[in-house]
Amino acid sequence: MSHDFDATRLSLLLNDLRLPAIKQIWSSFAERSDTEGWPAARLLMALAEHEIAERDRRRVERHLREARLLPGKTLENFDFDAVPMVSRAHVSALCAGDGWLRNGANLILLGPPGGGKSHLSSAIGLSLLETGWKVLFARTTDLVQRLQVARRELALESAINRLHRFDLLILDDFAYVSKNQAETSVLFELISARYENRSLLITANQPFGDWNKVFPDPAMTLAAVDRLVHHSTILELNVESYRRRTALERKQQGKGRPATMATPKNVSVPPRPEDPQ
Ligand code: ADP
Ligand code: MG
Repeated sequence: MSHDFDATRLSLLLNDLRLPAIKQIWSSFAERSDTEGWPAARLLMALAEHEIAERDRRRVERHLREARLLPGKTLENFDFDAVPMVSRAHVSALCAGDGWLRNGANLILLGPPGGGKSHLSSAIGLSLLETGWKVLFARTTDLVQRLQVARRELALESAINRLHRFDLLILDDFAYVSKNQAETSVLFELISARYENRSLLITANQPFGDWNKVFPDPAMTLAAVDRLVHHSTILELNVESYRRRTALERKQQGKGRPATMATPKNVSVPPRPEDPQ
């Protein structure tokens, strides 16, 4: 490297240009470039690529902290075989995001408790986040409480607007919100504000017909459901609780094991009769 070079000044310039990753790495890249005789353009390209990659990594990290997704729930560890009515290909397509998030369309996951709605919604959120979308995962009751506080402080509109920075707002356990006029009207305002503008992903263990329990006023239920489903994809996870199923399977395997282990080799075992239920 040439000796009349002012490294301190370069650091300052990189600070001013907000290129912290290049500031960190330039000297080792420059050294390699000198020893390996890289053309200048290659060095410049390597530095630019490094800055972009670091920027993406920092952005994902920042968004992940903000998103409050469920830890450890990913598409990789979601067992699609357990929900034959939901296709992995369809979910992968949704995870590209463009088709629906750009239009503020919604995704609704319905099904009984334990069927994987929260897992799948958080996993979809994570996948979208990794491709650059901003996501917030919230339990509906928690968010409703926050919005109620905002309303008491006459700041409901700005609280709802602040949520607009999230391309996708996941409202988990929508139908758990208690039937209380003040609560549900903030929810209704949120739904109206995001309609055709910013997407919602809603999970609920009650079909739409029962949402009258969420909104005390049938006209409000109708208006809310209408806005939610107008541009939406609905996935029904009508399966038995995954927890219950896996617990049962473990129990069944446990029952089988001692018999198998106790069987000496080379002895043929007659088929086991069906387990009594
Ligand atoms: P829901 O929100 O529908 O009540 P959850 O998503 O909370 O159900 O699922 C309950 C538990 O079972 C969670 O620990 C979840 O990770 C797990 N689970 C549910 N469905 C699946 C699945 N298809 N593959 C892997 N884990 C699952
Ligand atoms: Mg859930």
